Amino acid sequence: MAKLYFRYGAMGSSKTANAIMVQYNYQERGQNALMLKPQLDNRDGGKIVGSRSGLSAPCRFVEELDKIDLKLYDCVIVDEAQFLTKAQVQQLVDIVDQLNIPVICYGLRADFRGELFEGSQWLMAWADTIEEIKTVCWCGRKATMIARIVNGEVVKSGPQIVLGGNESYVSLCRRHWSRGELASEEIRRISTGKDAFLPLLLEADPSEMMIRRYLDDGELYTLNVHGRSACVAVIRRTGGSEWELMNLATAPDMRGKGYGTRIMNHIIKLLAPRCNRLRVGTSPANVGFYERFGFRQDGLRQHFFAENYPNPIYENGQPLDDMIMMSKLL
Ligand SMILES: [Zn+2]
Repeated sequence: MAKLYFRYGAMGSSKTANAIMVQYNYQERGQNALMLKPQLDNRDGGKIVGSRSGLSAPCRFVEELDKIDLKLYDCVIVDEAQFLTKAQVQQLVDIVDQLNIPVICYGLRADFRGELFEGSQWLMAWADTIEEIKTVCWCGRKATMIARIVNGEVVKSGPQIVLGGNESYVSLCRRHWSRGELASEEIRRISTGKDAFLPLLLEADPSEMMIRRYLDDGELYTLNVHGRSACVAVIRRTGGSEWELMNLATAPDMRGKGYGTRIMNHIIKLLAPRCNRLRVGTSPANVGFYERFGFRQDGLRQHFFAENYPNPIYENGQPLDDMIMMSKLL
């Protein structure tokens, strides 16, 4: 007999990656698994499910179920199932009970206020099998709650769903969620929603057009202080085992506290196993900073600043022209 499964976990518990792997396993056995998500969730720009790990897969919307010939499928997988309505969960129950097709739902249990989502409520009530996918809080305990963070503060009221806002979410254990306590300092890699960091990235590179050239395929790291991004760095592989630091920016009110140094040390350690040479292009004022990490000047990109930026960039009253190239062997 087919079953309805609800696999729930907090943010960052690899729910979407799990969903994609299950679909892949069906395909490997020569079977079809239908990937669905509620239409409400359009963060990934439409008919695609995407995980933080970078895996993605095409999908259909739950709202289209009536138009899909389910007889062609051996399994139905639903990502972001917390956003289902009660009626849609009922529809999934019918698929299991009437068509004998297993349905596997992945989603969050509760919202940032600690209240059940509609989809999760009915999946909890009706699923045959309920499984938890675990992830950890910054303190190392199991994270069961999600916190909404706006300007570095944990917010516990407001509408359940805000799409495209400037807030971010993090998973916490219940104790730290209750107290609204975020890690005093932690470094995270950001794979989705990089645009939220544009204002900070523009501090170091004043052209959004230039930032767009490396943001998508670059690796973005943020050093968060009590949930707020104090410093960001973007690195990108430029060929073979050579990498380039494309952007390193600290929020204006967070400067002089050593955050830039900490994220640099982190990146150098992180890259060591996969990188022989780390390069950076910079301006005269920052040469001393990079020399402290062992970078040496080894070239110029002539007129780079003058030719690639729509407006002149001034540093200590002088317009920047050549970019100074530095590198460090790892
Ligand atoms: Zn905790």
